Amino acid sequence: MNEVKVFCPATIANLSCGFDVLGLCLDNVGDEMIVRKSAEKGVRITKIEGANLPLEAEKNVAGVALLAMLEELESNADFDPIAIGFEIEIYKHIKAGSGIGSSAASSAGAVFGANELLGNPFSRKELVKFAMQGEKLASGNAHADNVAPALLGGFTLVRSSNPLDIIKIDSPNELFATVIHPQIELKTSDARSVLKQTVSLKSAITQWGNVGGLVAGLYTQDYDLIGRSLHDEIVEPLRSVLIPGFDLIKQSAYENGALGSGISGSGPSIFALSRGKETAEKIAKGMSAVYDKMNLPYEIHVCKVNDTGMKVI
Ligand code: ADP
Repeated sequence: MNEVKVFCPATIANLSCGFDVLGLCLDNVGDEMIVRKSAEKGVRITKIEGANLPLEAEKNVAGVALLAMLEELESNADFDPIAIGFEIEIYKHIKAGSGIGSSAASSAGAVFGANELLGNPFSRKELVKFAMQGEKLASGNAHADNVAPALLGGFTLVRSSNPLDIIKIDSPNELFATVIHPQIELKTSDARSVLKQTVSLKSAITQWGNVGGLVAGLYTQDYDLIGRSLHDEIVEPLRSVLIPGFDLIKQSAYENGALGSGISGSGPSIFALSRGKETAEKIAKGMSAVYDKMNLPYEIHVCKVNDTGMKVI
């Protein structure tokens, strides 16, 4: 096999109470990428469609992540470094800066595709650390909360970043996500700059109670517990003011049956989780009506949680 085509799914990070630690993988929204073996050593990005992103491997998250993986392989005596070279074609459908893991899809897709071509020397979990190097290029911070669900599927909990300790949690069967992306630009750096460096003990207690409740609800498929736990005491109150109509969108999601709703990643996308596709579609209608009324252009997606993550197509 000399070439693979990969579906690189979009992801929702943070999930209300799980700031920087929880994420989930979306089913039918994502990029595509072709990874090809090449006789020439190193990584070359030969084509990018759908976005204006750098072709230089060192400036593109896909290149940076794959170079990190090749560096580790080259230090392994079993691999012939001369034989390891790759070309990448990227077909972007996820807009950069949307808050649904655009950079993570490319970082994770590149290492996943190359790993397939090499006969899977690394497990999906082991690929996370290379993909995180791409995230470091995008945001200055080697975080795993988007690349982990993109690679592993379902929900992921980053219990620790150093040492890396990631737990995959299978999604309850009937769980759906609705995600609305208002077409405004919200830089991750701006969304970070509004955060405070300290939290009160009272807020921390509420937050870790909810994180525990959410994880327990996912394991036991207890939709009501999932709903009761989807609250964010700490980050959402500070960040939501940067997103137009946030409170109205959230209110409309609850009115239409959402289990919970919050900011996707660092925004501006807003997500809602619900039980069953019908409810997810009703929520989508309600959310759309809010932005239609505000005359704000948007994209909207209704997706099942994707339990497998990246896949060869
Ligand atoms: P997201 O949270 O949706 O990934 P970010 O704003 O955090 O969005 O990251 C996108 C940043 O990464 C942009 O500055 C973009 O130029 C850069 N970037 C580099 N390579 C890629 C790529 N292949 N896909 C997406 N973004 C990339």
